[in-house]
Amino acid sequence: TQPNAGTLFGHPKGLFLLFGTEMWERFGYYGMRALLVLYLVASVQDGGFGWTPAQALSLYGTFTMAVYLTPVLGGWLADNYIGQRRAIIWGGLIFSLGYFTLGIPKSMIVGMEETVFYIGLALIIIGNGLFKANVSSLVGDLYKEGDHRRDGAFTIFYMGINLGGFLAPITVGVLGEQVNWHYGFILAGCGMLIGLALQITLANKYLGDIGVVPSAKRTKGDTKAHAPVTSQDIDRMKVILIMSMFSVIFWAGFEQAGGLFTIYASDFTDRTIFGFEVAASSFQSLNALFIIMLAPLVASVWIKMGSNEPTSPKKFALAMVFLALGFFVMLWATMVQGGDVTVKVSMLFLVFAYLFHTLGELCLSPIGLSMVTKLAPLKFTSVLMGIWFLFTALSNKLAGFIGSFVGEGQEMVDNAANIFMGVGLAALITGAIIFLSAGKLVEWMHGAEGAHTDDL
Ligand code: GLN
Repeated sequence: TQPNAGTLFGHPKGLFLLFGTEMWERFGYYGMRALLVLYLVASVQDGGFGWTPAQALSLYGTFTMAVYLTPVLGGWLADNYIGQRRAIIWGGLIFSLGYFTLGIPKSMIVGMEETVFYIGLALIIIGNGLFKANVSSLVGDLYKEGDHRRDGAFTIFYMGINLGGFLAPITVGVLGEQVNWHYGFILAGCGMLIGLALQITLANKYLGDIGVVPSAKRTKGDTKAHAPVTSQDIDRMKVILIMSMFSVIFWAGFEQAGGLFTIYASDFTDRTIFGFEVAASSFQSLNALFIIMLAPLVASVWIKMGSNEPTSPKKFALAMVFLALGFFVMLWATMVQGGDVTVKVSMLFLVFAYLFHTLGELCLSPIGLSMVTKLAPLKFTSVLMGIWFLFTALSNKLAGFIGSFVGEGQEMVDNAANIFMGVGLAALITGAIIFLSAGKLVEWMHGAEGAHTDDL
């Protein structure tokens, strides 16, 4: 049954509880992430591990991949055995234990520093596995099939993600980097505990019994669900898989933010403004900031378009065009540089590249989450949400691989130009393929996008 706690801004109040829960969870995650590489490369004297950047980045790639591999297991566990609500509580607890483990001062664990560090990371990987897909699939459960508010709901939820992602580096990051690494990790853990406290105290009131009983058990009473998966279910799951695969191209480009774009910011961008030097890493916060500014706008555009609102595949195609535009802006920057590694270009190039990438993200990421909940048969919702994130895991690795072609020294500008052009063209081609397959994909959705069935 749907909870009966009323609505806020036209959405069930439970959406705002999930917004707060996910905001604090992401605050912990992005806070920890902001510190991780810096902590590893800091000298032992400065409280770090004294690793080389290459060692730290390689661990970072493997770790962020692992973090997005486990949600499929957490989703399966929730769908079949424990339900999303319990998975989120356990995930939150284990997550915060992971952060607190990283928060243990090294002086208390002399001789076991690395072991304790890896235990912390393992707890975070398990915590995210139990948490991430399940909180997203709960958002979808607030809406009935065909409810047009769903994409808008995920866009609002996505603002929560990015509010956490925006606040974390400027609090957890600064505390950890400038005061003490361990305090930073402890603050990340406290953020997670706030999210957990919100769930424990408010979920019964605002979510009713949504996500309490595992969905596989919920569907047992339903005679339709006794039947094995129908051919309509198979078609819909095909759409989820195909769209998830397309998303790999998007994320592999988008995730250059932490890699090639940051290197470009650091080496080839004039970062002085009013006599101040902007830190290269600060450019990454532009994305979260743009999301918070633009998400309401994008959500209202979809609503204003009414029955002309593009289908999910068409929104994905549009996302690819925005991704390509971002890369073409960066290609333009390299043309201004003219192959000269000593030339520094205006910051505006990166600002516009991030703007386009954020517009693309808003056409793809919340839409993808929403689409999974529209299309997944109830008993597989969280697993399929986990699969969506599984493809994200792959793209994180792929992004590092693509970025590494930039090499070093004199060729960097030319290599960067080739990478920007290559990814931009790949994005355009992928966008065209998605656009051309949109009709078929919508047909395989079997009406899951409500009024969109008329574009069949
Ligand atoms: N930034 C988003 C989040 O943390 C998207 C992550 C992803 O799917 N790559 O949820």
